[in-house]
Parts: sequence; C-alpha cells; structure tokens
Amino acid sequence: MRGLAKAYGTLRAVDGLDLDVEPGQCVALLGPNGAGKTTTTEILEGYRHRDAGEVRVLGVDPARGDRHWRARIGIVLQQVGDLGELTVRESLRHFAGYYPDPRPVDEVLEQVGLAAKADARGRTLSGGQRRRLDVGLGIVGRPELLFLDEPTTGFDPEARREFWTLVETLKDEGATILLTTHYLEEAEALADRVGVITRGRLVAFDPPGELGGRHTGSARVRWTEDGQPRSEETEEPTALVAALAARFGGEVPNLTVTRPTLEDMYLALVDEPAEPA
Ligand code: ATP
Repeated sequence: MRGLAKAYGTLRAVDGLDLDVEPGQCVALLGPNGAGKTTTTEILEGYRHRDAGEVRVLGVDPARGDRHWRARIGIVLQQVGDLGELTVRESLRHFAGYYPDPRPVDEVLEQVGLAAKADARGRTLSGGQRRRLDVGLGIVGRPELLFLDEPTTGFDPEARREFWTLVETLKDEGATILLTTHYLEEAEALADRVGVITRGRLVAFDPPGELGGRHTGSARVRWTEDGQPRSEETEEPTALVAALAARFGGEVPNLTVTRPTLEDMYLALVDEPAEPA
C-alpha cells in the first residue's frame, strides 16, 4: 500500500500508510487502541473503502476484488460472528463449501483444538473456544493470505501456544499472514516483521529483534560482587564481560546481559509526542 488514507469525519484514522508485505512473510501490526490497525486491515480485506492511496492485495485492488480473489484470502475478524444453532463441525463444513480446495474439516478441528467439541452448538462454546472456531473458519479455505485481527484474545496460555504452532504450520505451507495483536510476545514469536502504527501512521517496520534499534542500543550487564548486586549500562557488553571474567578469574557470579525488550521499544515508539500541526 502507498499513501493509504481513511477519515471518519474529521478523524484521520489512517493517515498516509506505506507498507509492503512479501509473499510468505508474517507481519504483525502493533499499536495503541484506535491507532488505525483494524481500519487498515478492513481496507485490505475489501470491507471498507479508502479515501486515498494505492493498494494491491495478491495483485488486486481490494475495492474491486471478485469471488476468485476472495477465495484466496482467509479472515479472522475481531468481532465474532453469531454461529448460534450450528454445531462446530457444521459451521466449518458450511464455510468449507465456499472454497474450491478446502482443508478437510476433521483436520481443521484437530488444528484448532476443537475435535472434542465438534458436535457442540456454537452458542454453547466458551469465549476462547469460539475464538478457536473463528480461527478454524479463517483457515478452512486454505488461504494464500490470512488476516488475523487479535486472534488470541481470550485464549488461555496453552491455547495461545497451540495457536502459535498452528501459525508456524501455516507459514511452513507458504501462507502470507497479516496479524494485529496487543500481545508483544505473540508478535515476537510469530512475526518476521513488526509494524508499529500510531495515529494512523507507520512509525516503525522492523524484524522484532531490531525494532527501534533494539539490537544495537546499549545493554545492561548485571553481576554480584562482594555480596552486592552490581549493574552497568554499556554499548560494548562483550568487552565488559571479558573484563569481568578476567577480574574474577572465571565465572562471574549471577552474570546477566539484557537488551531492551520488545515491550520497552514498543512503549518508547508509541510514547513519542504528536508532531506539531
Ligand atoms: P484497537 O486496537 O482498539 O482494535 P485499532 O488500531 O484497530 O484499535 P481502528 O478500529 O482502526 O483502531 O480505529 C481507528 C480510529 O477510527 C478510532 O479512533 C476509532 O474510534 C475510529 N473509527 C473506527 N471505525 C469507525 C467508524 N465506523 N466510524 C467512526 N469512527 C470510527
């Protein structure tokens, strides 16, 4: 996308976004509530009109996407649909019928951890189970491109790990994935690149380990000396550790070297004051 823009009245929800996602990449969009992530995603999915900008999704302008284009895309929306009286298996079978080459329903049930709930009606599922079904409905069509809008909200930690494994499988199969999430560890685990959006603009787009210069910034070295905790911030942690090792003549007690976490970098990026008007 180039120069993507969308306003609601006077609010510029998306304000000139440029972003490239390569085939086979997993990109995570991060940003505070209201930053414009869902609006951007919905434009890419063809569900929302843009005011300005150039967009191609699988080579097609999503405002003109037809059935064939739509069949190549999988979507897990933030809002869950009402699946009421259908059972889990029936819902999956129903959605599978829309696609030319769907995954076998039993395979999807296994992949999203709902095999034991296959015959339960949608309305009887727990929040996390419904979310798993949403993910199942998003992948049943074997999409080339998968949009996941906050897919693991409401998941317990084990379900989240299982979901990460599923995403790794989809990546291995060659799927391209655009994910929005508020869980930084999720972005770190899954994304090849992380895009940070604030006020409708992209303020960073880097591999998670390099966001905001995380890999080159200073590191904090901690150790214990004379029974006291010691700590030093340095641009050259290797040199400091070598000097400590020489001084101690071997193991340095309680030695750790830490870089800023993804969360540290993210918070620094979204805390930047607004540009003057
Ligand atoms: P969250 O992390 O909370 O899901 P988001 O980054 O996905 O947020 P959007 O849902 O894209 O943010 O919203 C961007 C801005 O546009 C917000 O200020 C929101 O209130 C506003 N907005 C979104 N949809 C509409 C709408 N249909 N009408 C008016 N304003 C809207």
